[in-house]
Amino acid sequence: MIIIMLGAQGTGKGTVAGILNKRNGWVQLSTGDIFRENIAKGTELGVEADKYISKGCLVPDEITISMVEKRLEDLKDEKGIILDGFPRTLEQARRLDQILESKGQKIDWVINLETPRDEIIERMLNRRVCSQCKATYNLILHPPKVEGICDNCGAELIIRADDSNADSIKKRLEIYDTQTKPLIDFYNEKGIVIVEEISQRINRLAEEACDDFMQRIQK
Ligand code: ADP
Ligand code: ZN
Repeated sequence: MIIIMLGAQGTGKGTVAGILNKRNGWVQLSTGDIFRENIAKGTELGVEADKYISKGCLVPDEITISMVEKRLEDLKDEKGIILDGFPRTLEQARRLDQILESKGQKIDWVINLETPRDEIIERMLNRRVCSQCKATYNLILHPPKVEGICDNCGAELIIRADDSNADSIKKRLEIYDTQTKPLIDFYNEKGIVIVEEISQRINRLAEEACDDFMQRIQK
């Protein structure tokens, strides 16, 4: 099973992927997490990626695609893979199809998360991540049990550098609109998109979205 998480920043892609991982054992492949790990370790990839990430830009396709290709090879025996944060450009989507096709695999489902823009910005400003295990929290929607501390592993929670100001958030949302949104049509043509609304206003959060998704793919 190969699943792609689509949707703007802050819609809850990582949270949904985490729930599907817990419920089904499908592994999560998050390009943002891999980049941040590499930045923290100071690897060559990390140094290169940071030039773009710190400015709120996308990392160039070539770097991103070859990194994902390698990870997919490592994960080839997994029963399920959830791609979180990839693809984000049409070029990435086309190359992903080619990579999978060469292995006799294909994308099973695309989950497109939709959240009103004003809620997204508020969520991103309230987002905290674990400095160790990368679990994500939201101070309003799902706060940690102890302030500033990860429920899973006890490590310190931090604000991601690119979430710390409204300008960077706005810029990333603009890039989403121009570069990533066209992927919805690309995958709609294949008939594999499932839209899940996540909105606090209607009290529909990640758990409900996952319940609905699981029901719909079992039909
Ligand atoms: P967000 O969804 O808030 O942008 P992510 O953790 O998914 O956060 O990604 C953090 C940053 O990593 C992005 O702003 C971008 O610079 C880079 N990045 C992640 N995935 C990709 C990708 N598929 N292509 C290019 N850059 C990416
Ligand atoms: Zn943790």
